[in-house]
Amino acid sequence: MTFTRSDTGNVLILWDVDHTLIETRGVGRAAFAAAFEQVTGQSLERMPHITGRTEPDIYAAVVELHGIQEPPPFPAFADALATAYIERQDQLRERGRVMPGAEQSLAHLGSCPGIRQSVLTGNTRQVTRIKLETFGLQAYLDLDSGAYGDDNGHRPSLVAIAQARASTSGDEFDRRNTVLIGDSQGDIDTAHLGGAHVIAVAAGGTPMADLSAADVALADLTDTFEVERSIELVTNRAR
Ligand SMILES: [Mg+2]
Repeated sequence: MTFTRSDTGNVLILWDVDHTLIETRGVGRAAFAAAFEQVTGQSLERMPHITGRTEPDIYAAVVELHGIQEPPPFPAFADALATAYIERQDQLRERGRVMPGAEQSLAHLGSCPGIRQSVLTGNTRQVTRIKLETFGLQAYLDLDSGAYGDDNGHRPSLVAIAQARASTSGDEFDRRNTVLIGDSQGDIDTAHLGGAHVIAVAAGGTPMADLSAADVALADLTDTFEVERSIELVTNRAR
């Protein structure tokens, strides 16, 4: 089966990163703790719920949880976080993993005419690149067209940012031809509020039953043709 939308224009796929493409399995938490300790001088005692949130949003919540009155600005934390990831890159490669079917799906969609692939993530731009390069996934993605936590702490605002960045090459991307692929309610809300279709993948830990607000929910990414068909379905439905 081949992707049949090339006659109706291109499609922009925006991948969530954590628990959709990869999992750090504790390395991300360790990097966050190290960066937090470095910039605030305090040890990390507690974390809020972080799934589906952006890094500046998480940082602000953690600072508040620890009662820090005048926190160092987010960019200082973001730099420390990138350094902490670089220091742990070997550990990330060993302990983390690529989600089942993720690389095959990236490769398959990359071979389909009319599909552009980038990311929409709460991670900072620097950390996103480190995570993807650690697992060799960056080659499948146009990271310049992505939107990141350090672009805007309000995750739904990232959809328009990515669409604008991807549109500069002559293609126009909007609600009708943008598909977000993620693993959480935060991704579903981001797509609905920001203006995109959304495919949710349960392999990241959120049960299928809790992903019913997505346009399509998949158990995992192992059936690459099912992933392709889902993109076709949600984009054609909108016409
Ligand atoms: Mg996620």
